[in-house]
Amino acid sequence: MNTEHYDDPTHPSMNAERPLAHRLVVATLVFCLVFTFATVCVRTWFAWNSGVQTMNSELALIDQVFQGSLSKAIWEMDRDSLEAQLKSVVEAAPVGRVTLRIPRPERAEEVLVRERAGFLGTGPAPVLTRALTVSPYPGAVQPVGTLVIEGDPGLLRQRLWKEVWTIMLTQIIQALALAGITMLMFNGLVTVHVRHIARHLERLTPANLADRLRLGRLGNRNDELDLLTVRINALQDNMAQYLELQHQAELALAASRDHLALEVEQRTAELVAANEQLQSLSRLDPLTGLANRRYFDELKDAEFNRALRSGRPLTVLMCDVDFFKRYNDTHGHGGGDACLRLVADTMKALFMRSGEVIARLGGEEFAVLLPGSDAAHARQAGERLREALAARQIPHGASPISPYLTVSIGIAELEPSAMTVFDQLLHRADEALYRAKNGGRNRVCE
Ligand code: GH3
Ligand code: MG
Ligand code: MG
Repeated sequence: MNTEHYDDPTHPSMNAERPLAHRLVVATLVFCLVFTFATVCVRTWFAWNSGVQTMNSELALIDQVFQGSLSKAIWEMDRDSLEAQLKSVVEAAPVGRVTLRIPRPERAEEVLVRERAGFLGTGPAPVLTRALTVSPYPGAVQPVGTLVIEGDPGLLRQRLWKEVWTIMLTQIIQALALAGITMLMFNGLVTVHVRHIARHLERLTPANLADRLRLGRLGNRNDELDLLTVRINALQDNMAQYLELQHQAELALAASRDHLALEVEQRTAELVAANEQLQSLSRLDPLTGLANRRYFDELKDAEFNRALRSGRPLTVLMCDVDFFKRYNDTHGHGGGDACLRLVADTMKALFMRSGEVIARLGGEEFAVLLPGSDAAHARQAGERLREALAARQIPHGASPISPYLTVSIGIAELEPSAMTVFDQLLHRADEALYRAKNGGRNRVCE
């Protein structure tokens, strides 16, 4: 298995705080220890039984070997042979104590006891009791005593301990080997791949979603890790697709935003232009193109105050076409309009200096503001207007004073000591106009 290319334990993400393999090993060890304990108990119990059985067989063998000769020695009252045989019996390895009871007629039985040094009692060791008999002649059986051979519990325990140690040792070695193999296999089969998956996911960014997750295992195993790999790769594909859609949407949004900004800019420019046009239209008289009454009212006070502040003269000319009603009646309303335009053009040609304002106040009535001009200068200007109009020779078929169109002009100059508002000046000019009309028209009056 080729795993070293991605198994880097120094990488921070590769060091899980509680590795799965360790937990698995601990669980395996705990299980093995419990299992070992149970196994040791069971096998010790069997070993004990087997030890007791072995000792039984051994005692039976000793009994077989000595019962005949012992019976004979008792029968023949061969004390030396008896002693020697009892000594041999007690020296046999499994024997702890040997007791020989010899009944005697009309006396208490004789009890001969021989025991191994350090013998403390039979305890759980087996005990063999044998009735000793002789056959003095065929067919006769004569009891001569009872032989009791007690096993040595020390030997029994010694053998058992040896057995138990062997069992424990093998079980522990088996447990450790099992835990080690479990850890190695788990590491190789699972941990190393899980770490690789974790590192792959950690490196993942929107830019490298196309990088496939590969586990570096040989062949297709169709196990849980393969399933996880397939799912992670599918997830990456979905995310890449989603991000692409999002990117496209963002581009579309940016384009429409730019388009919208352009549109707003264009509309704003159009609105500004329209507004400017509207404003200028709202200030101009549509027939003559001169300032209208409203605009004149906006300007007059500013000019009036400026003249008061600067101390420079300011004059107003009020002009009114003579017998214009009759003109209309004679030349028609359209002719009247054309005539008003001619009068306006004549005035425009005369009053061109900066600051000079010509306005149509209504009907056939015009006003001219002449900042910096005194009454004398205004009178000259009025005369020039009258002459210029006369020079145009606009026929007026119904005027009783001239064959051509004429105007009457009233002039007033600002008197700073007597006037506080412009309308006082305008009123003066109106009065002067009235005088010009009453004086016969086609003239300039102050
Ligand atoms: P006066 O010499 O005393 O000024 O007499 P007038 O006829 O000029 O004065 P009046 O005020 O009696 O008549 C003004 C006329 O101007 C009445 C009206 O029909 C005409 N008029 C007012 N506005 C317009 C306009 O925009 N176009 C035309 N064609 N005529 C207009
Ligand atoms: Mg009038
Ligand atoms: Mg008039």
